Amino acid sequence: MNPITQVIRATRPIYRKLSTSAPVAAAAKPLPTTGMCFELSEEQKALQDLARKFTREEIVPVAAQYDKTGEYPWPIVKKAWEVGLMNGHIPEHCGGVGVLGVFEECLVGEEMAFGCTGITTAIGGTNLGQMPVIIAGNKEQQKKYLGRLIEEPIVAAYCVTEPGAGSDVAGVKTRAEKKGDEWIINGQKMWITNGGVANWYFVLARTNPDPKCPASKAFTGFIVEREWAGVTPGRKEQNMGQRASDTRGITFEDVRVPKENVLIGEGAGFKIAMGAFDKTRPPVAAGATGLAQRALTEATKYALERKTFGVPIARHQAVAFMLADMAIGVETARLAWMRAAWMADYGIRNTVLASVAKCHASEIANKAAADAVQIFGGNGFNTDYPVEKLMRDAKIYQIYEGTSQIQRLIISREILNNAMQSN
Ligand SMILES: Cc1cc2nc3c(=O)[nH]c(=O)nc-3n(C[C@H](O)[C@H](O)[C@H](O)COP(=O)(O)OP(=O)(O)OC[C@H]3O[C@@H](n4cnc5c(N)ncnc54)[C@H](O)[C@@H]3O)c2cc1C
Repeated sequence: MNPITQVIRATRPIYRKLSTSAPVAAAAKPLPTTGMCFELSEEQKALQDLARKFTREEIVPVAAQYDKTGEYPWPIVKKAWEVGLMNGHIPEHCGGVGVLGVFEECLVGEEMAFGCTGITTAIGGTNLGQMPVIIAGNKEQQKKYLGRLIEEPIVAAYCVTEPGAGSDVAGVKTRAEKKGDEWIINGQKMWITNGGVANWYFVLARTNPDPKCPASKAFTGFIVEREWAGVTPGRKEQNMGQRASDTRGITFEDVRVPKENVLIGEGAGFKIAMGAFDKTRPPVAAGATGLAQRALTEATKYALERKTFGVPIARHQAVAFMLADMAIGVETARLAWMRAAWMADYGIRNTVLASVAKCHASEIANKAAADAVQIFGGNGFNTDYPVEKLMRDAKIYQIYEGTSQIQRLIISREILNNAMQSN
């Protein structure tokens, strides 16, 4: 029995199964009867320890090499899959253990991100691809496609963004037309994490050509297999950071998709695509927190070793206060993802808190990484030291899964709606 299965067995009485019927959206644990508690359970601590050990032994030693080569980290993905650090949320009826929640995924993600956020995104990207099937797939779809991910170490991907539509998802132009019992998909996706390595994709396509049709009815979500005729991933994009992650454009040309691969039904796609973010933004925030923690850890160590004017630079208040600001950021970012993830697991609407966590943690990661480079001085600008990678890796957190501006749009819209309703 792998270590995580042991943890999960012990955890079973505590976590309610997240997915027992289809569609499974909003299946949630009952609220605890006790009050606020910041202590992790023994099982969560064991999971965190396992992820920490895995990160120190398997990820940290190879992070710089993957950053340099840009190769997809298959050996790490396979090991993470073997020890059970992937797919812990896949339901039992698909062969999974189905008991880990968003909170536990975040715990693991934060630990791995400490080691390398490129590798973490390579691993986390499959969760984003799976989420529409978890929240909206029927039992057959789940068994077939989530089950595959349990049988062998393969990954999924989420295909929504296009060359002309990222923030403005309603601008998606990929079309799907019904022909008999099939749908024919044509279009071009862009910036797809795991685009070249995934076994299957969640694809959002427009199915109602009427421009007046509201987004909530105009799009449909499909499960599309990588090997189907007409699916062509493009070249691996050369990104600024998180270079171990595989990002590509994908062309869909007359791709025939059986009607069995439609999620929920025609017109439900936009809601599914957006609904996934409530469960995937907290893990993104946790990843950014892990990166910020790494920046703080490296900068603290260096500040105690490096001397100027006869004392360690940590003794200069200007440096010590940068460390303090980094610690303030790490602590608040962690609390933010914890709350957003906790709400997701208890079925409490968390759209705003997920945006708060994602926006805050991504900004903290960028500031912490930039401050770490500053504390390292000239060495910080050099690839022989670990912090320049952190600064390059941090930037994408403010862009993918909704930019920081889009998170503010979501948050401000909610505040204003609430205020107007109460007036
Ligand atoms: C490495 C990487 C991995 C990715 N992985 C995936 C993936 O797996 N699947 C997927 O579907 N997509 C993925 N994306 C796409 C990502 O989600 C989009 O890039 C992102 O949502 C922004 O869209 P855009 O690039 O089209 O920018 P645009 O939408 O063109 O935005 C450009 C700028 O304008 C701002 N802006 C836009 N609209 C507004 C507004 N209304 N108010 C204020 N400011 C606004 C934005 O914040 C941004 O600063 C990935 C992107 C990258 C770079």
